Formats: sequence, C-alpha cells, structure tokens
Amino acid sequence: MQIAIIGGGASGVLAAVALLRNATAADRIIQIEPAAIGAGIAYATTDERLLLNVRAYNMSAYADQPGHFVAWLDQAHPGNDADAFVPRSWYAVYLRETLAQAIAASAGQYQHLQTLVTDIVPRLHGAQLMLADGTAIAADEVILAIGHNTPANPLARWIPESTRIIPGYDWQRIATDMPADAPVVIIGTGLTMVDSVLMLLATGHRGSITAYSRRGHVPRSHVARATAPAPFSRADGGRPLSDLLRDFRRAVADAAAAGEPWQAVVDSLRPHTQGLWQQFGTTTQRRFVRHLRAYWDIHRHRIAPSVAAQLDRARQTGQLRIVTGRASAAQMVPDAITVTLRTSAGSEQLTAAYIINCTGPSTDYGELSAPLSVALRNRGLLNPDALRLGIATDVDARLLDRTGQTIPWLWTIGPLRKGLLWECIAIPDIRTEARVLAIEVLAAGAPTR
Ligand SMILES: Cc1cc2nc3c(=O)[nH]c(=O)nc-3n(C[C@H](O)[C@H](O)[C@H](O)COP(=O)(O)OP(=O)(O)OC[C@H]3O[C@@H](n4cnc5c(N)ncnc54)[C@H](O)[C@@H]3O)c2cc1C
Repeated sequence: MQIAIIGGGASGVLAAVALLRNATAADRIIQIEPAAIGAGIAYATTDERLLLNVRAYNMSAYADQPGHFVAWLDQAHPGNDADAFVPRSWYAVYLRETLAQAIAASAGQYQHLQTLVTDIVPRLHGAQLMLADGTAIAADEVILAIGHNTPANPLARWIPESTRIIPGYDWQRIATDMPADAPVVIIGTGLTMVDSVLMLLATGHRGSITAYSRRGHVPRSHVARATAPAPFSRADGGRPLSDLLRDFRRAVADAAAAGEPWQAVVDSLRPHTQGLWQQFGTTTQRRFVRHLRAYWDIHRHRIAPSVAAQLDRARQTGQLRIVTGRASAAQMVPDAITVTLRTSAGSEQLTAAYIINCTGPSTDYGELSAPLSVALRNRGLLNPDALRLGIATDVDARLLDRTGQTIPWLWTIGPLRKGLLWECIAIPDIRTEARVLAIEVLAAGAPTR
C-alpha cells in the first residue's frame, strides 16, 4: 500500500513513525514536506533561548514509551532531567532521529519528497497528488498533516499589507530586523507574544514593547509537578457550563486547602477533555469558545517558570506593557504605524516602528487561501467544522466531504482536528492520535494488499 503524508511537522513525523512501526514490506510511506522534516511551525527555530512549554517527561514521541524523549536527552544533552524545559530546536532533532530509527527498524519503506502538494485528485481507489514541482504521485491512503496556518492580519481593514507587520513565527526577522530602540507593538498576548518578547529581550532590544489583546490575559506559569483529583469527567459533558465552572472553582479551593496548586486541577482534566468536549455538543462548545476559551488557554497552555520570570522582570522595569483593548483604527505614518485602541478607560494611541502579529494561526478553512486548502475546498473534500476551529472529520480522523459523507482514503491528524477533539495540539495528544491513526490507515488498506 502507498500512503502519502502531506506535511512533515511534528504531526506528520509522529504519523510516519507510527506507520513505520506497524508497516509490512508491502507498505511504502511517502512524506511530502518542502521544509526540514520535524520542524514545522513550532520547532523550526534554531535559537536555543526558545524553550518547550512542556516538561521533558511529557514529550516522548511514543504514547507507550513515556521515557523515550528523556532517554534521548540523556544521550544528546546530558544534565537535563525529566522536569526540564529544554530548547525547542532540540526537539526537531529528536523527531528527525526518532524517524530515522523508525525507518531503519521498519519492514516498510519511507521516502521524503521536498515539495508542496497543490491538489489531490480522487481516483477509483485512493487519489493522485499533484506536486508543486510538476509531478504527481498515486496514493492508496492520504494523511493531511498540514498543521498551522499563518495568522491573518488583524489590521487588514486599515493596512492590508506592510513589511512593518511581522508574523509572530518569523523568529529570524524578530531577532535581526528590529532596531534596538524601536518601539514595538505586539498584537496578541498569548504564547507567541511570550516567544516574541523573549526574542526581543535576548537580542538586546531596548525600545518599548506594548502587547495588547481584547482581554489582556497572559499565559500563566507552570509550577512543580502536583496532582489533584479531576472534578468531572466525560459523563459530565451534558451538564450546564456554569455547573462545571462552579465545580472547577470548588476543586481549586479544595486543592489549595490541601496545599496543591490550581495547576494540578487543570492538569487533572486532561484525560477527560476530549470526551467532555464531544459530549458538550455544538451549542455548548460555541459558548465555551466565546466565554471561557481565553481563560482556558492561559491556564492550560502554560510557560516555563524561568520564562514567566523574564516576562515579569520586563513588566516591572516598564519595558513591557500589557494593554487590554481592541484596535479601532490604524494608519501608516512615516517610518511607523499608529494603532488606536479602544480601552476600558477610553482610547489610547500606540506608535510602532514594527508590529508583531501574534494573534495565533488562522483556523477558518472556509476562508484560507493556501493553494491546497482552496483546491480541496473546491473539490468538496475539505470543509470547515461547525465552529471553524479546524476541518470537518469523523471520529476515526477521516475527512467529511461537503455532503457530510466520510471520505474513505483521506485522513488527518493534529491541530486540524480541533473542532472534533479540542485538545489535539500538543505532543501528548498528537502521539496518541498517531498511534490510533496508523492502525486505522493500515487496516483500511489491508483488503487491497
Ligand atoms: C510556537 C509553538 C510552540 C509549541 N510548543 C510546544 C511544546 O513545548 N510542547 C508541546 O507539546 N506542543 C507544543 N506546541 C504545539 C505542537 O507541538 C504543535 O501544535 C505541532 O507542532 C503541530 O505540528 P503539525 O505538524 O501539525 O503542524 P505544523 O508545525 O504547522 O507543520 C505542518 C507542516 O506541513 C507542511 N505543509 C503545509 N502545507 C503543505 C503542503 N501543501 N504540502 C506539503 N507540506 C505542507 C508545512 O511546511 C509544515 O512543515 C507548540 C506550538 C507552537 C506553534
């Protein structure tokens, strides 16, 4: 069977590793990825100052070998224990080496094609993949692992395009293009803002940094490992959100009384989150996204304590300011951009030599303009989920066509499944998805072998 994996970021690599583990000599895995394998958006940086947001012990590529990454770390970078937050660039190397080992140990074959997929043409069985280099390949099964999209420009109404607006993942430009005294405005106050501030501070930036978002929430810090009982599980997904919130707050208070941090209560929900989300149904999911998502994100997706300390220092010195507000106007002026913010106190005008767009990846597949997304949408193969958090899939990770029918040969993994799973973006979730996906994909192709 020929299996094509489109994308070679963390999700694509974990899918390839899981497939290779279960493949027979009749299986051939072709990974199509224009950039370096294992990098993707998260691990592409070579700057060792950008750290993983998850402790080493939870970053194994294998769900059934939890110590795999820590063992690799012992060999490759001794002196870092299981609780360490290590550089993200090391993780890309780990993924590549894990893939190389899986290739060597597998009965199946593996090939990397360094190009883009521009279209997928369905055939009687499987599909034909059209590649940017003008060639095409046939595949019996196709896995879409195209991950995160670049963030949409939040100032587009006023400034459709400007080299002064830099995407938050463009570490190279953030590290090299900013004059040290330039005032910088960051749109968004989440994890990418944190990375951008770290990058600026590390390169000796002296100018002011102002980050704004509608709620002004900043990711919270991890603390030492702790445990607490989960306040609810999947079965509670049918209860009103307000009840769950009340139970959650009570659990946090109980944990505090027992000397445990709130972080332990948040982490206790992890095994139940996907189930709860599915039990919610679309109406509750929509309410959750609208009212609680901003709180969930900063408490669930936390930062290393050393990173939180750097951020605090920058706020204390006054170099970094976090503002709650939304843009009501923006304008190009000589050598700068001005943004007018509507805030609770009225309005405030910010002037920036550069703006860093940290508003997070675009997830509305009904609107995205990447050539492959457009081509698949036009064919009715790729459709946004109801909340526009990712794409419409069935529970087995197969895409749904525009009539809602399962496409038997087209699968996905990772962030694209957020609408169905909610919790599917970090490695501990993706590796579990990969394991299940590999078994399903190989079984789907089995009768035709
Ligand atoms: C900045 C950041 C830090 C993170 N830190 C952590 C962490 O510490 N711990 C943790 O558990 N999780 C972390 N995550 C989450 C996580 O690991 C990511 O969600 C994960 O990288 C998702 O990988 P992906 O392969 O699905 O997507 P991506 O990383 O976006 O990779 C998708 C790949 O697909 C390729 N592609 C796209 N279109 C095509 C096409 N048409 N043809 C061929 N290839 C294509 C792209 O070139 C890209 O390489 C982080 C995420 C980010 C963004």
